[in-house]
Amino acid sequence: MPTKRESLRAVAAEVIVCAKCPLSRSRKNAVPGAGDRKSRIMLVGEAPGRSEDAKGEPFVGAAGKLLDSLLSEIGLSRKKVFITNVVKCRPPRNRQPLPNEIKMCTPYLDRQVRILKPIIIVTLGNHSSAYIFSKANMSFDTITKAHGWLYEASLLGLCVKIFPTFHPAAALYNGQYRRLLQEDFHKLRHHKLDGTPL
Ligand code: URA
Ligand code: SF4
Repeated sequence: MPTKRESLRAVAAEVIVCAKCPLSRSRKNAVPGAGDRKSRIMLVGEAPGRSEDAKGEPFVGAAGKLLDSLLSEIGLSRKKVFITNVVKCRPPRNRQPLPNEIKMCTPYLDRQVRILKPIIIVTLGNHSSAYIFSKANMSFDTITKAHGWLYEASLLGLCVKIFPTFHPAAALYNGQYRRLLQEDFHKLRHHKLDGTPL
């Protein structure tokens, strides 16, 4: 039986050289994900942006800074969670990922979920939430309606709680989203996000 570390490394090694979809041609670096493999909290964004593409790490640009401060407000840090994206390579000009790109890439996310066995998946934005809800055979309308609630779900053979919220990038230039995102993160604190079972 491979260890969690070995299994995660195997996924990352495949992602780094992946050419399954056209995003492989425009990316500089694929971004498999990063964080604490022992954490039971997983954060799932949409796709790498320019800074992430340059570094090969998730959420290291402006949206990442906001995410860091949101996490620290509730006593967490990126070192204590695992962060990844629905799509592992940057879409050109930061456009939204296309359905086929999501379809080709999400087997990697699915494997990461199975390896990490999170207690809670925090989905950041519409794409991430729509994908994770679809995996749980649950309907999802829009992030505006669904955000800030904890949903009990069964997906990929696991009992997981899904917590959808806004994407930090959407909150960068919009004070209202920023406040809502902050409120949502504060709600998360009450769900024992220190890794102990909910
Ligand atoms: N936005 C995302 O969705 N993911 C990142 O890694 C960075 C910005
Ligand atoms: Fe492969 Fe995903 Fe990158 Fe497409 S986005 S090349 S499927 S790792």
